[in-house]
Amino acid sequence: MGLKSKVLIVGGTGYIGKRLVKASLGHGHETYVLQRRDIGVDIEKVQMLLSFKKQGARLVIGSFDDHRSLVEAVKQVDVVICAISGAHIRSHQILLQLKLVDAIKEAGNVKRFIPSEFGTDPSRMAHAMEPGRETFDQKMMVRKAIEDAGIPFTYISANCYAGYFVGGLCQFGHLLPPTDSIVLFGDGNQKSIFVEEDDIATYTVRTIDDPRTLNKTFYIRPPANILSQREIVEIWEKLIGKQLLKTSLSEQEFLGIIKDKEYADQAGMTHFYHFFYEGCLANFEIGDDAEEACTLYPDVEYIKVEDYLKQYV
Ligand code: NDP
Repeated sequence: MGLKSKVLIVGGTGYIGKRLVKASLGHGHETYVLQRRDIGVDIEKVQMLLSFKKQGARLVIGSFDDHRSLVEAVKQVDVVICAISGAHIRSHQILLQLKLVDAIKEAGNVKRFIPSEFGTDPSRMAHAMEPGRETFDQKMMVRKAIEDAGIPFTYISANCYAGYFVGGLCQFGHLLPPTDSIVLFGDGNQKSIFVEEDDIATYTVRTIDDPRTLNKTFYIRPPANILSQREIVEIWEKLIGKQLLKTSLSEQEFLGIIKDKEYADQAGMTHFYHFFYEGCLANFEIGDDAEEACTLYPDVEYIKVEDYLKQYV
């Protein structure tokens, strides 16, 4: 093994970003975290950044409004991982990455860029429903900018974050599992894929010095976590020793509910529609132009849905 790449994490204070910082440090990479000048009086973020520093990360001050500062930050490293926000219920800044792409292009030294994706493969979502398709369309715009600039990349398709999906047994707007009743999407039998967030970070960091993942999409598909909503409910029922009362929401009923929601909820719900009625995460084979995490790194002991759910009992 040669020297480990130096890594800059942009969006390091975010939900997935903070796990990427931890994984990068844990894997022995010299780790830089962009400390945005516009952080203001967000005390949680400031303290998180200081805790990264205590753990060995280097904080690099910069701003998306200051191109030079981004170029200077990028010049210090070999690899850039961006984890900028991209969920409407929190914040959605995917297109800001175009500024980062410009900086990486100008700096000219970056051996790998991992843009903020970490979910559904946007290249498979040209048919997606409005308004959620905005996320996929914008991620594709970022991909185009990366490829037009000739920047080496890896695209991480991490499927469903466990915290968002497993905890609430896939119910929209619920992060905790019910103990009495559950509404299934249709018959509840469409398969999706669930990945614990620290595992996503671990697999992501494993790719950066691996030539097999260069200029490829990297799917994270832990075999034990390719499950339907019904199967997740059954795992939960076994853990609590009780059957839940099950009702079913038809596709038409679900689409009817979406119409009356606020924009951010509509965006999230259309994603749920594609996952749980259409089965868009698991209904295809990975092509030759892609790699799969558990196949490349069988030594990683990923968290299985059953073990993940135990914390809620
Ligand atoms: P967060 O909402 O946690 O935000 C991440 C970071 O974005 C922030 O910490 C901040 O970085 C940066 N950011 C936010 N607003 C601005 C702004 N105006 N200017 C500059 N930076 C800003 O992001 P998530 O972790 O939820 O999302 C990261 C990725 O994960 C996205 O691509 C998203 O689509 C995907 N995702 C996937 C899910 C799944 O189930 N697969 C679920 C949710 C998201 P800082 O302050 O550190 O600079």
